[in-house]
Amino acid sequence: MKTPLMDLKGQYGSIQEEVSQAVLRVLESGHYILGPEVRALEEEVAHYVSAGHGIGVANGTDALVLTLDAAGVGQGDEVLTTPFTFFATAEAISRVGATPVFVDVDPQTYNLDANQLELKGTAKTKAILPVHIFGQPANMDDVVSCARDHEWFVLEDAAQAIGADWNGRRVGSLGDAATFSFFPTKNLGGYGDGGMIVTPDENLATKLRSLRVHGSDPANKYINRRIGYNSRLDELQAAALRVKLKYLDEWNQARRESAQLYDQLLAELPVTTPYVSEEANSTYHLYIIQSEQRDELMAYLRKRGIATNAYYSIPLHLQEAFHGLGYQEGSLPVAESLAKRTLALPLYPEIKEETIYQVVKGVKEFYQGTI
Ligand SMILES: *Cc1c(COP(=O)(O)O)cnc(C)c1O
Repeated sequence: MKTPLMDLKGQYGSIQEEVSQAVLRVLESGHYILGPEVRALEEEVAHYVSAGHGIGVANGTDALVLTLDAAGVGQGDEVLTTPFTFFATAEAISRVGATPVFVDVDPQTYNLDANQLELKGTAKTKAILPVHIFGQPANMDDVVSCARDHEWFVLEDAAQAIGADWNGRRVGSLGDAATFSFFPTKNLGGYGDGGMIVTPDENLATKLRSLRVHGSDPANKYINRRIGYNSRLDELQAAALRVKLKYLDEWNQARRESAQLYDQLLAELPVTTPYVSEEANSTYHLYIIQSEQRDELMAYLRKRGIATNAYYSIPLHLQEAFHGLGYQEGSLPVAESLAKRTLALPLYPEIKEETIYQVVKGVKEFYQGTI
């Protein structure tokens, strides 16, 4: 029996009827781009995260790029962000012509260490881009208060954290804007690419709606107000995502319960289980542990048919694409040490208890063999 890291097909099976109906409804409507399904999903997601306006776009990366662009971040500007994230976060900063400035992460939460923001800020700093990594919210009290002192824009990369809370407030409602990804593996994943921006700022929302359609005027798409993009969420994805949004809380709760079981079963073993700060309610996008023998443990589990993955084995400041920024090994020691130790164990809403027991048994036997 193979144990996958996640099981997208299994989830589809549980909502097949509803998704098929939604997809057929779109196919028969004749309206495929920026129609009633996208508008409805935008309202539903904005309402779900208490965030004002929703703007559907082609993917989570574009959501970041368009928002930075709309906020006026560009050439000559610096954006403070974390090196321990998916590449797209910092790629978006470079894509608009600005420079990512990496701030080392907190060793417990793996999120950017807000205490270092002051130190890394300069006269060129324009924005902070915190990521709620693996579903756990960054310390948004400290991020926002630092940003307010300097009038920096706050963009939450909430690609992994839809449904997470910080101090009782939904992630996505805590900064000036936030982005979500509907990539199939995300907690709210479509059947293809998709993304959304949410913001309480009506002017920003209007600009984003224009940017996603070639910078056109909302009233007349053949009048172009600015250089934009072609980046839309399509109706088929929106219709399917509307079905899935109804189950999101239930699925996130199931992830939390499975994570708790892992926590208990792994407690006696020499691995570090996820730390969740008191203010946070994580979505457990991934269940990440640390092991001093990460690569050996992964190889051992692979041999037993248990899939794992090393998120993230190269911190962004050491990625080849960012070589020109001048960071070196040792620049950001916490992120670098995590990159050598972290791995994700199988976790998805439908995972069975017996699967978790099996995975833990594998981890246990690895350590019995090596100690
Ligand atoms: C997935 C992800 C993105 C990019 O989203 P896409 O929809 O794949 O473009 C950005 N940031 C983080 C943290 C992600 O996990």
